[in-house]
Amino acid sequence: MSSLSRRDFLKVAGLGLGSAMLATEAAQAAPPAEDANDHVGMLYDTTLCVGCHACSAACRDWNGTEVDLDPSGLYDAPTELTDDTWTLILLHQGENGNSFVKRQCMHCVDPGCVSGCPVHALQKTAAGPVTYDPRRCIGCRYCMYACPFDIPRFEWEEVLPEITKCTLCADRVAAGDGPACAERCPTGALIWGRRGDLLEAAEKRLVDHPNRYVNKVYGKDDAGGTSVLYLSHVPFEDLGLPDLGTEPITRLSERIGNVFIPSILLGGPLVLAGIRFISKRDGEG
Ligand code: SF4
Ligand code: SF4
Ligand code: SF4
Repeated sequence: MSSLSRRDFLKVAGLGLGSAMLATEAAQAAPPAEDANDHVGMLYDTTLCVGCHACSAACRDWNGTEVDLDPSGLYDAPTELTDDTWTLILLHQGENGNSFVKRQCMHCVDPGCVSGCPVHALQKTAAGPVTYDPRRCIGCRYCMYACPFDIPRFEWEEVLPEITKCTLCADRVAAGDGPACAERCPTGALIWGRRGDLLEAAEKRLVDHPNRYVNKVYGKDDAGGTSVLYLSHVPFEDLGLPDLGTEPITRLSERIGNVFIPSILLGGPLVLAGIRFISKRDGEG
């Protein structure tokens, strides 16, 4: 994922979000969590990651996603998120240092994708995961515009495409287990638990090892906070984690939606969404 500043994101997202906001009053932000620290979350520490890809393999195993082979046809080696690759480990090499970085949905406390979806196909659940219901989805893809982390993907090659992304293993969490990726990490680079406990553990690492890390827990407050938290020894922006400020993207997008009236953009996507909805309904009937 390319690095994206808050300004760049809002420029791209503004018009699409504005039309989504006009489309229906249902496109309101999910109510803020009563206490996001009680949500389930994950903490990823770049200094402990050895790039073994056990986490991304565990994600495939649990979710049954197709492998993404490299040109040799021998190795599962995705270089970006796709509709079948919900998480991956990338190697960053740069002037500020080298690092592995894991990418997946951040499970924002106040998610832009939920705010952008006009039909509530995406939901922020009480336990923390941001989940997707394909039965509600009309294929408008506003969630893709509304995500500041460039996470949701669309099944372009399917007849009735769906949005895909990491679910934070909501099914496993509901059963009392942890996310498959975190449970398989052999080094402790990726751990899971109550968000508040993860934040406490991360801040203790910063105090105990001040020279090891950039002095910040990414996701504590970024874009209003996320359930997936990062510690890093190289600047977060180098790893593709944008500086989005601390205000939830949903609030900014709602303001934009109130200012712009992109009626031209409103018509096309909604017609297509209607066609998709009808064909899906007829197919199910
Ligand atoms: S990272 Fe994007 S897709 Fe994931 S919860 Fe946040 S806004 Fe939604
Ligand atoms: S939390 Fe689950 S769905 Fe998300 S990356 Fe990990 S294994 Fe995949
Ligand atoms: S399993 Fe752990 S150590 Fe291996 S790549 Fe994933 S996060 Fe890094």
